[in-house]
Amino acid sequence: MPRKSAVKLRCPICKKPAKATDPDFPFCSERCRLLDLGKWASGGYVISSPVADAEEAIRQDSPDEEGE
Ligand SMILES: [Zn+2]
Repeated sequence: MPRKSAVKLRCPICKKPAKATDPDFPFCSERCRLLDLGKWASGGYVISSPVADAEEAIRQDSPDEEGE
């Protein structure tokens, strides 16, 4: 199979080819980069929620164990 010297990467948002030299790489444009940020902000990606983690820590620190 033929070897390609340039690996084409695709924008994770719109799947268009993105250039490694593009300032918004790996996104094809600033618009897609902002869209990706919006996904994170709106919880589009579910990895871990810092707010939930903080609440968990607070619950674990509750003085329930020191009942007396
Ligand atoms: Zn794009």
